[in-house]
Amino acid sequence: MALPKKKTSKSRRNMRRSHDKVAAPNVIYCECGEPVLPHRACSACGTYNGRQVTESSDA
Ligand SMILES: [Zn+2]
Repeated sequence: MALPKKKTSKSRRNMRRSHDKVAAPNVIYCECGEPVLPHRACSACGTYNGRQVTESSDA
């Protein structure tokens, strides 16, 4: 099996892992108060940009 010729230094390992972080999703708040992702219709009230776009249980 192929083996690396040199040990990966802590510096090189950490530099590689500098890109591993998962960014937290951007959260905005709907007019109904629910947290929603940008450019998505609200799952609670079914509105997007102040307009009803989906069927919802209470609206
Ligand atoms: Zn809403």
